[in-house]
Amino acid sequence: MKQEKEIIFNGEFEDSEDEDEDQSQDYDSDEDLNKKKKKKSLQNTNKNLIMNVSDTQYPVVKFVGKMINKFKLQYVPYQEINNWDFCWTDNAVLPETLAKMQSHQKINHFPGMYSLARKNHLGKNLNKMQKQFPEEYDFYPRTWMLPSEYNDFKQQFGKAKTFILKPEASCQGRGIFLTRSIESINPTEHYVAQRYIHKPLLIDGLKFDLRMYVLICGCDPLRLYLYKEGLARFATQAYIAPNLNNLDDICMHLTNYAINKDNPNFIFNQDEKKMDVGHKRSMSSVFQLLRDLNHNVDQLMDDIKDLIIKTFCSVQPILQQNYTQVDNYANNMCFEILGFDILIDSSLKPYLLEVNHTPSFTADTPLDQYIKKNLIADTITLMNINLKTKNEVIQQKKDEMQKRVLTGKKTKLTIEEKKQIKLQLQKQRDDYESQNKGNYELIYPCSKSYEEYLQHSLKIYEEWTGANIRRNQKKESIQINQDSQNKSQSLPKKIQLEKRSTLYKHIQSRINTNLFPIIKNEQNKGNEVIQEGEEQPPNQIITIPEVDNDNYVPYEDYQQQSLESIKDYYAYTDKRGLELQILDFFQQRKAEKRLNNSHIQYQNGQNIQSPLSQIKGVLQGIAIKNVRQFAIKKNTKNMKISQKQNQDNEQEKPQENPSRQQIISSQFTYQQTNPQGMTGAYLKPKVFSLKLQHPPKGYKLQSLPLLMQQNSTKFRYE
Ligand code: ADP
Repeated sequence: MKQEKEIIFNGEFEDSEDEDEDQSQDYDSDEDLNKKKKKKSLQNTNKNLIMNVSDTQYPVVKFVGKMINKFKLQYVPYQEINNWDFCWTDNAVLPETLAKMQSHQKINHFPGMYSLARKNHLGKNLNKMQKQFPEEYDFYPRTWMLPSEYNDFKQQFGKAKTFILKPEASCQGRGIFLTRSIESINPTEHYVAQRYIHKPLLIDGLKFDLRMYVLICGCDPLRLYLYKEGLARFATQAYIAPNLNNLDDICMHLTNYAINKDNPNFIFNQDEKKMDVGHKRSMSSVFQLLRDLNHNVDQLMDDIKDLIIKTFCSVQPILQQNYTQVDNYANNMCFEILGFDILIDSSLKPYLLEVNHTPSFTADTPLDQYIKKNLIADTITLMNINLKTKNEVIQQKKDEMQKRVLTGKKTKLTIEEKKQIKLQLQKQRDDYESQNKGNYELIYPCSKSYEEYLQHSLKIYEEWTGANIRRNQKKESIQINQDSQNKSQSLPKKIQLEKRSTLYKHIQSRINTNLFPIIKNEQNKGNEVIQEGEEQPPNQIITIPEVDNDNYVPYEDYQQQSLESIKDYYAYTDKRGLELQILDFFQQRKAEKRLNNSHIQYQNGQNIQSPLSQIKGVLQGIAIKNVRQFAIKKNTKNMKISQKQNQDNEQEKPQENPSRQQIISSQFTYQQTNPQGMTGAYLKPKVFSLKLQHPPKGYKLQSLPLLMQQNSTKFRYE
């Protein structure tokens, strides 16, 4: 806790415009000259570094930024301005924010952290892991998501079992209750229900839990630190195992500070140097007490670290997927301090209760002021946020650009090169952090392997998102490339079919995953999908896009960037001669639209060419005859295709597959500027968005994680 002697935080902070003013009066007067020089130089360098604090309510955050790190504080909403170097927000961060950031910028949240921070998501993710590893994941009390798991939950009620019910998106103990009867639960309400740990470890006859601070400072690969200091929060009423008479005593069963601080029994800690008194104490003082009582605290700490790492393993693929928005080989643009709430039972087994992605930085007691100030300061130091590092990163980018200009070559790195760069940056980071970790302890990577948990959670994630389709597709595509290199132009029929199925899967995976190719510049089109160093296969195979998450964006972004790429998409399929798959796709879409009160409105009421026919025309390279203008209007749900139009289009009527009906509701607005008489007339879709509602049989619903993330953020933070 190196800053403790230097600058004391007393719970209040007023920003001052005078940046150069030396406000740190707390330095000892006989402070040695070197320290002063060091401080002065930090002040001079960092004063140009902008810390955006527009979305934090905590004085301690601003205090550390300004008084310890000498950053310039910025109060303009961080989403509206992009010249900040470092942003601290009390709320979740959306993937869009990350996508706009430059590699020298840092923000204190990871998009996708809802998967840990929302009780229902945490429950679902850990339950899935528990299913596969029941013993290794037994640190999480058995949990049911209501109402969906109501029936199973109902079976659990029997003699002497107590359950705790928590609203799925609440905090600070709000809305929580204990119960022993299923009748007290509304079967339609959304709750996270949990077995109640009825034999907690007690200190002075009181139940307590631990608030431990965990820093995740990289998600690909995972990089986790545990802060050696934290808080122990005590209940204010002596604990008695739950019985029908005391289930309502929240100050006995719940240890939340927000609940207990209003109890007249509550003793506030008054002195940061005496951290072992009162109903909120330092974590280290509790561990010391347990040591004194001959408890095996080392084992307890090992179990806690293990529990933390396993918890992150369950969501690592989600975080990684969200992080692919940035090309950040250093793996360091996001970091997040998470509050892990741990309950210890009487046998000294730790249980995870919940994970807070915005742990409170309220500092209303000397104990809080001391711990939280140091926690934030150590975090900023560990994240290496300073002007020197910023300049290095910017210079590195400039060098790369210059290299590109000079060589005139797009330097797309091979997977191996990327790996090497990542390793090199990780090594630099290891060196820096080992010297600058303050009170943090690196807990992952570590000597123990967690690979099987990571692999399993990846498998779960892929099943959920269908990403395995993409990966198989990639393998298949590589295989095809190799095949085509080896074989002559006239491929045997079997291989051609294989290629068709490949493309078909590819298209399906794009639809299912809501991920689409990143738009490339004109000059980069075509063979840029080939990794440098790889030999270019013959016969236009180069036009098959690389199925690599790095190269795909959510459809919404794709659509915004350029619609031309849809055309490109068709163009390469044309080259591949695999138009049938595209036609299939459109037929299916059309069928679904028809069955779902199609929005198509034919403007002239005449026999027209559908997009299917027109694209077919493009693909076959022939002019489309009798093309007539039409529009498919957005939000015109009541408009139906007339009987006549249906008949007119009879020849294109797809073989409607009932299992795919009502799968995708799409909204199109097509406009055609000059369709008639155009050779190879092509209808350029102006608006084209997909909303997956029910996955077709055999497919997983892909876009859900993205949608849920946005919804959950709204739900929680509005
Ligand atoms: P909140 O986010 O509202 O604080 P928590 O899940 O942290 O919700 O629960 C609040 C408190 O309830 C905890 O601090 C703990 O004291 C108690 N608690 C929660 N879950 C359990 C459980 N399964 N067994 C025993 N006590 C629990």
